[in-house]
Amino acid sequence: MIAAPHTLIIGAGIGGLTAGALLLHAGHRVTILESHVYPGGSAGTFYHKGFRFDAGATLAGGFAPGGPHARLADILGLEWPVRPVDPAWVVHLPDGRAITQWADPQQWQAEWQTAFPQTASFWRTQERLADVSWDISSRPFPWPPESPRDLWTIAQALRPRTLQALPYLFRTIGSVAATGDPMFKAFLDGQLLIAAQTTADDAHALYGSAALDLPRRGVNHVQGGIGALAQTLVDWIRAHGGEVLFRQRVTQIETNQGRATAVITQKGQRFRADALLANLTPWALNDLLGEQSPMRLQKEVARREPTWGAFTLYLGLDAARLPHLASGHHQVIVDHTRPLGEGNSVFISLSDEGDGRRGPAGTRTATLSTHTAVAPWWQLRQADNESAYLARRERYTETLLAAAEKAIPGLAQAATLCLPGTPVTFAYYTGRPLGMVGGFPQTSLFKARGPGTGIDNLWLVGDSIFPGQSTAGVTLGGMRVATAVLQASRRSNSLWPAAPSPAGD
Ligand SMILES: Cc1cc2nc3c(=O)[nH]c(=O)nc-3n(C[C@H](O)[C@H](O)[C@H](O)COP(=O)(O)OP(=O)(O)OC[C@H]3O[C@@H](n4cnc5c(N)ncnc54)[C@H](O)[C@@H]3O)c2cc1C
Repeated sequence: MIAAPHTLIIGAGIGGLTAGALLLHAGHRVTILESHVYPGGSAGTFYHKGFRFDAGATLAGGFAPGGPHARLADILGLEWPVRPVDPAWVVHLPDGRAITQWADPQQWQAEWQTAFPQTASFWRTQERLADVSWDISSRPFPWPPESPRDLWTIAQALRPRTLQALPYLFRTIGSVAATGDPMFKAFLDGQLLIAAQTTADDAHALYGSAALDLPRRGVNHVQGGIGALAQTLVDWIRAHGGEVLFRQRVTQIETNQGRATAVITQKGQRFRADALLANLTPWALNDLLGEQSPMRLQKEVARREPTWGAFTLYLGLDAARLPHLASGHHQVIVDHTRPLGEGNSVFISLSDEGDGRRGPAGTRTATLSTHTAVAPWWQLRQADNESAYLARRERYTETLLAAAEKAIPGLAQAATLCLPGTPVTFAYYTGRPLGMVGGFPQTSLFKARGPGTGIDNLWLVGDSIFPGQSTAGVTLGGMRVATAVLQASRRSNSLWPAAPSPAGD
């Protein structure tokens, strides 16, 4: 009897788990090796002093019918522990106004008509482009194409309505949204920074339109913390005969004749593989390959600018000291004349009132985050200047708490525990070099990165590949990569069992 091909996956982030579950479903043997004692990476939930904090991601889209998480649940037959939230979040502008991101389209229309009455033509275009983007993403769409087969799949996914996107292929949101209203610009920049990793003047018009539409496509709160998504996938994989092994940090990838053959873990264990998926950034993959890294990957990591990092605060809160809030999710933009990030834009998410899974009775948790450049944090670390590093951390802590007070008065006073996280922390807990998180800014469709690595049986998966960040984005990427692995395994060994494609290919 011929053994099923064995796919090994480095990392139990949402991207790696999704690809692993789909390959298992399609008949592969699957082993996932994870450094930590819990899954989810940037979308994990960790335990500290009685509280369970969301490490990075706090809200998730893609559960409405046709959305990536919903399609995955249909294929695997699983249920997600989520509930929709409406409003999705509230944006607090520098002029003191609060703009509610309603999920309900009529309420949202009334909201922007009141707040930004001159912007009707922009929202009409945005909606039209978002429809095209979401329509394309509901079918297999291996962008950017890496093989003739990808090109054929893309061609099949196109519809007459896709043509509407053509005039916008080389445009940014800023060029579509040109108005003289600085508050409108601040609003758009704030939304795009969290959903496309860049602001309106650089965010691609199609990607940015879909990103601006996220609240209307349905945003969900995950019961017990966002890590329950990854845990649901781990449970499914284990229940269906796959392996997810914790405390197994991969330190080296072995190659032979241009193929990845095995990995070595910190414990000195060696795992062989027919196919290898790296739920990593290109920099981390290059490190694991060392001298075996293909020239193309070496050049890529030398050429690329570092991506954003995150500064986070994890608060344990006395619930009785918090004001009544209509939404548990808020974004504060402090000063529209300064660049966003670095504490000038802050996202705040509270756990549900009375959710006993997140902390002791009478408490709630909050995750606050802001984009931050990674370099200054590491300069202080590498200069071994601990006191300057700690002072910077303290300064950011105060800045974030002050910004959050604008949305939730009394938040700082209600905190009984305050734990900061810098890019140094993220590097340690997610294995992402320099703590670079969130993937690449989505500035151009033609600069998008695909899963190819230059090694035939080794693929990247996660938010470094298109469509990039978010649990929904990496789920789409995971579907693409699972399909690519299945196609390659059928090509390279006709004796391997033919398996149905997960993405309906
Ligand atoms: C502050 C912040 C807020 C965010 N907010 C949201 C949000 O609200 N909604 C949303 O949808 N998205 C949000 N995101 C983005 C989202 O969390 C990520 O895009 C997504 O979770 C990334 O998934 P991934 O598959 O790339 O894996 P990652 O999250 O990068 O996980 C990779 C896993 O691999 C493991 N690993 C790494 N190296 C090794 C190794 N050598 N050996 C073994 N294991 C290894 C890590 O421990 C980790 O578990 C946010 C991100 C951040 C940082």
